[in-house]
Amino acid sequence: MSKSSFQAQLAFDAQHIWHPYSAMDSKLPVYHVESANGVRMRLSDGRELIDGMSSWWCTLHGYNHPRLNQAISEQLGNMAHVMFGGLTHEPAVRLVEKLVDLTPEGLESVFIADSGSVAVEVAMKMAIQYWNAKGKPAKQRFATLRNGYHGDTMGAMSVCDPVTGMHSLFNSVLAQQFFVSAPPAGFAADCNDQDMQPLQILLEQNHSQIAALILEPVVQGAGGMRFYSPDYLMRARTLCDHYQVLLIADEIATGFGRTGKLFACEHAAICPDIMCVGKSLTGGYLSLAATLTTRAVSDTIDAGNPGVFMHGPTFMGNPLACAAANASIELLIDSNWHQRVMHIEQLLKHWLTPCNELPQVAEVRCLGAIGVIEMKQAVDMATIVPSFVEAGIWVRPFGKLVYLMPAYIINDEDLAQLCQRLTAIVAQLPV
Ligand SMILES: *Cc1c(COP(=O)(O)O)cnc(C)c1O
Repeated sequence: MSKSSFQAQLAFDAQHIWHPYSAMDSKLPVYHVESANGVRMRLSDGRELIDGMSSWWCTLHGYNHPRLNQAISEQLGNMAHVMFGGLTHEPAVRLVEKLVDLTPEGLESVFIADSGSVAVEVAMKMAIQYWNAKGKPAKQRFATLRNGYHGDTMGAMSVCDPVTGMHSLFNSVLAQQFFVSAPPAGFAADCNDQDMQPLQILLEQNHSQIAALILEPVVQGAGGMRFYSPDYLMRARTLCDHYQVLLIADEIATGFGRTGKLFACEHAAICPDIMCVGKSLTGGYLSLAATLTTRAVSDTIDAGNPGVFMHGPTFMGNPLACAAANASIELLIDSNWHQRVMHIEQLLKHWLTPCNELPQVAEVRCLGAIGVIEMKQAVDMATIVPSFVEAGIWVRPFGKLVYLMPAYIINDEDLAQLCQRLTAIVAQLPV
């Protein structure tokens, strides 16, 4: 692409295109990407950046992976898409076989959705239809944890953190849900009866109205990059059983190895009643997600009124996306992903932990292939992102959180460069 043409595109973009959570007249820089390969993105001005974000948890195997490319081209030769009403196809069947096989035992009925937010909407509707079919139509509300993030559509928004999710703005359209304080911070934190009390009291008092507890297992992502103890998750499972509330595990960010287990629920050895996956499902190639549930839930929905599950997206089970997901999951399972992720955790700890000594830094925490530097104050996006780009790395903080979640294929040298360049810039920030 010629220089003038990408610059003209940037100017057009600034006039007409919204980016995620952006203003139309945003003063924040937007960079024009020409291509991406492995862990490197090439900007149209010729600069090359080492990617620290995996495009928001997605690109496990890096960009432009030959096997993912091949899977999509082969599928393209057969068919790009057919409707899923009354039709099925090999890519979808193979994908669901894999999901049933790899996710916690008991999750056997699968709804293929087109994005994470939709998978969350689907999970919430499943829970409501389940209780309705059980003769408990009053169970239509949800319990959730503060600091959570579950997506941007109305139902999903209603269970996001009310403060960071700006619930005040959408007050009259959002369903009123039940929020409990976030679990004690720290993967290794002790968790006792007292820590469970807010959830226990909430469920005790309101279970007759609550269809499900929805949470992100072990790692709360976009709501604060917080880690919490698997023990909390285990105890939450027990409380849900006790009070007849379904448990929805939103594994959209944590799924497919990111936390060091294939799914974060495995840290607590629990099986949720409903589980959502998305983001890295296609290795970052196409938008696709899925909601899995138990036979008990799907049989009950079938037996209720109207006897069907009330959802059906136009692009449900898109064959191209399913083909990408199949290839991505095969790549992951055939690789030594667990060893890779644990190795990345060690390197992230090695390179980032010294930042704990910096006066600007509140805390450094690493789990699996996630490294978080929590600052004492919010970073200035208008200056920090350009400094990262100048240094040849792609890192996109939010608020006080500067974090890395590299592709699992990143090599030691690139990861060291990424961390060193990042920490050098963090060390220069105003105190
Ligand atoms: C990103 C995310 C979602 C929403 O997924 P989209 O594909 O952006 O709609 C839901 N839940 C969690 C935990 C996420 O990280």
